[in-house]
This record gives sequence, C-alpha cells and structure tokens, in this order.
Amino acid sequence: MARKTISTAFPSPRHDHAACVDEALAQAERVCAEQGRRLTPLRRRVLELVWQSHRPVTAYALLERLVQDGHRAQAPTVYRSLEFLMESGLVHRVESMNAYLGCNQPWHGHDVGIFICRVCGDVAELSDTAISRGIERGADRIGFTVESRVVEISGTCRACSGACN
Ligand SMILES: [Zn+2]
Ligand SMILES: [Zn+2]
Ligand SMILES: [Zn+2]
Repeated sequence: MARKTISTAFPSPRHDHAACVDEALAQAERVCAEQGRRLTPLRRRVLELVWQSHRPVTAYALLERLVQDGHRAQAPTVYRSLEFLMESGLVHRVESMNAYLGCNQPWHGHDVGIFICRVCGDVAELSDTAISRGIERGADRIGFTVESRVVEISGTCRACSGACN
C-alpha cells in the first residue's frame, strides 16, 4: 500500500489540514494493527487532538479538550494515552516545549530532528540519517551511551523569516 508522508515541512496555513488529520488517523490504525496493539477510542481521540495543528500540544491542553468532549478524563489518563502513542511511534515528545507532536511517518522507527519556529510556533519533523550518524560518531568518541536521538532545533520558518525581511 502506498504510504504518504503527511504534509511537507511547514505547510501553508491554507493547506487542507483535515486531510492531514484523516491520513494521520488512517496511518495510526495501520501501525497499531501491524504491531498488534489496540487503538482504543480514547487513544484515537487523543491522537486526533494532538493533530489539531502542526504545533506541539501540551498534555494539559489535551486534557481540557477531552473534558470539553464530556470525558471524565484526568491527567493520568491523558499521560497513559500519550505513553501508548509514543511507544507506538505515533507521537513524539518535544522536550523543550514540554509538549507532544504527531509523527508524520510513524510506520518505521526513526531518529528525528525537530525544527521549531520560535515566531509562529510551527514545528517540522525531519528524519535524516546524517543526524543520527553524527550523534553516533560523537557518542563513540567519548564512550557515551545514547538513549534519545531526538534533536530539537529552534529558529524561524520560511514564512516567518520572509515576513521579517
Ligand atoms: Zn496539516
Ligand atoms: Zn516521527
Ligand atoms: Zn514560523
């Protein structure tokens, strides 16, 4: 089956985001089926909420939305769902923002570079083996055991740097 990567980095604000959400949920169903894991309605809804935009969302914002839905969800419920989604590779944690981002290519585990625009808050994920090779080389040299290979890079996206010039 053809596997689309959702959106390009920093998609136009006018892009069809409903299509991104549909594709993300369809991919999640496939990934969970392949892994033999259960995407419960709550986990699916949390993922849908994570995909509200291309900006990372905090667990607190997710909880607020669930409560608005009429869920009697509490923080541990949200964290458990996020934990599941991260283990399944569907969501990445953005440490520097203490927030969560939907993965745009969850069908294979990957090292990630997360580019964060500090003007508009949009985030782009790029998976580039050159990044992980560089990390491995440096770690080897100093005898360091790597656990997380998520690199977060802050700056300005094309649209925002264009607006400033
Ligand atoms: Zn989108
Ligand atoms: Zn990813
Ligand atoms: Zn921007």
